Amino acid sequence: MEYLRDDLQDALKKSIVPGLSAAILASLTVLGREVWSPLVRYVVPAIDTEQLLWLCFLLLLTNMVTAYIALSQRKGKFKAAFGIYWDEQKQPRCPAESCRAPLKLMGSRALACSVCHYDHWIELRKDSGERITLEKAKELL
Ligand SMILES: [Zn+2]
Repeated sequence: MEYLRDDLQDALKKSIVPGLSAAILASLTVLGREVWSPLVRYVVPAIDTEQLLWLCFLLLLTNMVTAYIALSQRKGKFKAAFGIYWDEQKQPRCPAESCRAPLKLMGSRALACSVCHYDHWIELRKDSGERITLEKAKELL
């Protein structure tokens, strides 16, 4: 039953996410045209060069602070060990940079990501290359 639920979740992710992304992008494009034209016609000529430089500097500073906060939260959330990532509850997470989905145990030693299918099977290994079980890896964390 859980297998079917995972398949349904995968199918929904594969079909809804691209469709929703396209709808949002189209909406932003239309909204951008409606906002861009009056902005260029009336607002930009009213701003002098010094104000524009300060606005650019403020925007750059805001982006840098936002990126720093986002990256620091992401790094703190997962810990890298034995070739994968681990969450705060010592649950294995996908090693793919953009995924980090929970991994499922397949057999006694192999893990698999049902979201991105990263490398099909993932084996836990120590730095020496020795294969270890999930339980042993959790003990060593
Ligand atoms: Zn994954």
